[in-house]
Amino acid sequence: MVLLGPPGAGKGTQAQIIAGKLGVPAISTGDIFRANVSGQTELGQQAKTYMDAGDLVPDEITVAMVKDRLAEPDAKGGFLLDGFPRTIAQAEQLRSSLSELGQALDRVLELVVDEEELVRRLSGRRMLVDGQMVQRDDDKPETVRRRLHVYQEQTAPLSGFYEGEGLLARIDAIGEVEEVTARALRALGVADDERPGAD
Ligand code: ADP
Repeated sequence: MVLLGPPGAGKGTQAQIIAGKLGVPAISTGDIFRANVSGQTELGQQAKTYMDAGDLVPDEITVAMVKDRLAEPDAKGGFLLDGFPRTIAQAEQLRSSLSELGQALDRVLELVVDEEELVRRLSGRRMLVDGQMVQRDDDKPETVRRRLHVYQEQTAPLSGFYEGEGLLARIDAIGEVEEVTARALRALGVADDERPGAD
């Protein structure tokens, strides 16, 4: 499945929880890029300029990276993609790579959050790195605005694309993490068996 939603919608958090429930790996292109940037790999060097500007890394680079990742053994029984696809071109290439593997997407879940809330969340967001709370370079206010603009222009059309394919479910992603997870699992038709009091 694919998790779709703007920067700050909580995709990373929900991706981990939902993938855990489904027993599939959560694959985040943002995390793979960040790991390559900090490891100073060639891929990281290619991606960094785009990421720092709040722009998308070119499709050729991103699609090749995702294809490699999906070919790994742990993705054979399914996977949850977080942050990919982000353009219609990426979605089309994903569809054809999966069909070559005899696979197809089952579901696309869109996390819906209004822009005011996104700006609030992103500008306040800090990550723990080496025991210190730091702001991600691309969470600076000007870059946040750019990322939201890029989302509207290039990624938001995927919602209609996947709706047309009959794969889309949309949920309100404002509220406590557990509440949003419960809505997500309901939309996916997955039993939420870890609720307190449930068998
Ligand atoms: P967020 O969803 O909060 O913007 P991510 O961690 O998903 O953050 O992505 C961070 C950055 O990594 C993006 O702004 C972009 O530069 C790059 N990136 C991640 N996924 C993709 C993708 N599918 N295509 C192009 N660039 C990507």
